[in-house]
Amino acid sequence: MSSCSTLLSRVAAVLCADMTTASPTADLAGPPSLDPTQFSVEPAASDYASQSFRFRSHREERDLWLEALPLVEDDQKRIDRFVRCGTDAWLQFSPSTGRYRVRSNVCKMRICPICSLHHKRRASDLIASVIRATAAEPGYAWKFVTLTLKHSTRPLREQHDRLRQSFRKLRQRKIWKQSARCGFAVIETTFNRSTGLWHGHLHVLVHSPYLAQQDLSDAWLSITGDSFIVDIRSVKTTDGAIRYLTGYLGKPPSIASLDRPVQRLGEFYVAINRQKLLIRFGKLPEISDEDSDGGDDPIDWTPLCPLPSLLSSARTGDPASIAILKLLTGASHASTQPQPSDTS
Ligand SMILES: [Zn+2]
Repeated sequence: MSSCSTLLSRVAAVLCADMTTASPTADLAGPPSLDPTQFSVEPAASDYASQSFRFRSHREERDLWLEALPLVEDDQKRIDRFVRCGTDAWLQFSPSTGRYRVRSNVCKMRICPICSLHHKRRASDLIASVIRATAAEPGYAWKFVTLTLKHSTRPLREQHDRLRQSFRKLRQRKIWKQSARCGFAVIETTFNRSTGLWHGHLHVLVHSPYLAQQDLSDAWLSITGDSFIVDIRSVKTTDGAIRYLTGYLGKPPSIASLDRPVQRLGEFYVAINRQKLLIRFGKLPEISDEDSDGGDDPIDWTPLCPLPSLLSSARTGDPASIAILKLLTGASHASTQPQPSDTS
């Protein structure tokens, strides 16, 4: 730890306020409730601190997924990746920018509360690029359309399939083909604890001229046979619209709404597994790599020390380690970016 402390002290002088995370609260106490008999891999004891740090704002959700995933996922490698997400974590520093970040093993699963942020960021970059490329089209504007299905007792997977199929049919209808040029759609899933029913809505961001709500409602009823509730709103700010839409990518219903959380999360996993979560439709404008990458990642990231060493050093009161942790957690300044710096 002494070499790490030396490095930390050296770089502490150039701390910059460019590190952000989702939450300022770093919960470093105790290991998560892993039952090693369920998994073919078990993180080392030194990784518990790293994983507690990574999932500090999502502990309950992650613990539930650790129980639910083995019940519904046949691929043991995917389960093991999820179990190991956040292990082997290192603190890195970029001298050219003065930024810090944490790099670790990642599962890249869409249900992972932290890895999903990467998917959302990429989707946001893509949608923003498309909106920029279509901004100058006269007579067209971006709108928010919500399509709903009548409450059903059918399994959630069937309801998701029905939403997708119904939307595909709508896109073949005259009302849609004549007006909607292109866009994106995402399913929002909710659960009603009092009725015990799942419910899916399709949120659609569409580039189109005027859309008549009654005509759209009539078409939706004609396709679904029992559902007519649709909503059309103009987009006030594109940033807000993108944030709203991508916020539902892989997002499970709120844990508090679930009567049997492990079982319900399993049902949600089955519904979204191997499905495209971001539905693209219409003729999207060509987007170059330069437009869509959305990143200015420095190339001089340098490993400083294992994350557990930083956490341990901060617990003993080392000022440089505490300062870096504050930057990593966004506790030292207001953050304008939703993504944490400890995504890998
Ligand atoms: Zn992950």
